[in-house]
Amino acid sequence: MSLLSVRDLKTSFFTSRGEVQAVRGVSFDVRPGEILGIVGESGSGKSITCMSVLRLLKSAGRVIGGEALFEGRDLLKLDDEDLRQLRGNEIAMIFQDPMTSLNPTLSVGEQVMETILRHRKVTRAEARQRAIELFELVRIPNAAARLKAYPHQFSGGMRQRVMIAMALSCDPKLLIADEPTTALDVTIQRQILALLKELQSRLGMAVILITHDLGVIAEVTDRVLVMYGGMAMEQGLVREVFARPSHPYTRGLLASIPKLREGMHARLTPIPGSPPDMLRPPKGCPFAPRCPQAMLQCEAAMPPLFDIGTEHDARCWLHHPEAPKVTGELEAVR
Ligand code: SF4
Ligand code: MG
Repeated sequence: MSLLSVRDLKTSFFTSRGEVQAVRGVSFDVRPGEILGIVGESGSGKSITCMSVLRLLKSAGRVIGGEALFEGRDLLKLDDEDLRQLRGNEIAMIFQDPMTSLNPTLSVGEQVMETILRHRKVTRAEARQRAIELFELVRIPNAAARLKAYPHQFSGGMRQRVMIAMALSCDPKLLIADEPTTALDVTIQRQILALLKELQSRLGMAVILITHDLGVIAEVTDRVLVMYGGMAMEQGLVREVFARPSHPYTRGLLASIPKLREGMHARLTPIPGSPPDMLRPPKGCPFAPRCPQAMLQCEAAMPPLFDIGTEHDARCWLHHPEAPKVTGELEAVR
């Protein structure tokens, strides 16, 4: 049973230059208590997908198709009041830069208590007690004393812990974390990821973790959805996708993870080229212009998602039964 089931989601931005097709038919499921990673380069549509589901798009953005069932209720059709009830309650979200989400003029304790009081019928004293418990849960030392501090008195990592505490204040069933560690240095990044993973298993909530870094996916997620050009390119269990990456884009992302063992001398192999222009999305495979294995039909027609194993799909013509099997036989477009 899925907690969240997204089907054929399509989102466009209507700009003065025309329609930007940011999400072009994405489907995925999140099961209770699992961590789903959504990975892709910036502009792949991964954040827009989640903003669409929560109806947090800015005015130019519009969901133009699909559904997003949360425990069977379509979030895209809920009335505003029901949606508000759900957001920050059953579904919580944290973002990359906690500084922009925190109010600099209020103590962090006030802000956490405000969130609790907004969603729960409790007294201020009870909200304060709950805030202390939450700070302890996310391992902010001297929790009670730290409630009085202001956001600028916290380091980036500590601010992200405050955001996580706020997100957890109402025991969400689903936490959506959009690049929660991207702004942090590597050591702090690891600590926050470890904390997220620990909280997820202790509290039993589901998490969607959005990142551009497959290394982060490997570390904490159960399943992964690889996005490119507003579409799912590959999805499956993380260990399966890492053992058998089945889309050239996934293989490109894997090659760009620095090998930790190689330390400072790690060789990064970024994927040459740039993502497609979503004002004029290509009719065929969006990855074709950058794909080392592109064949003639790749630009002519959009590959479907091929079922290539238990819970493992890839959108690539190489999985067509009649596709050439030996790399040397591939007819490169360029
Ligand atoms: Fe490359 Fe073709 Fe597969 Fe697209 S469909 S990833 S261009 S081989
Ligand atoms: Mg993003």
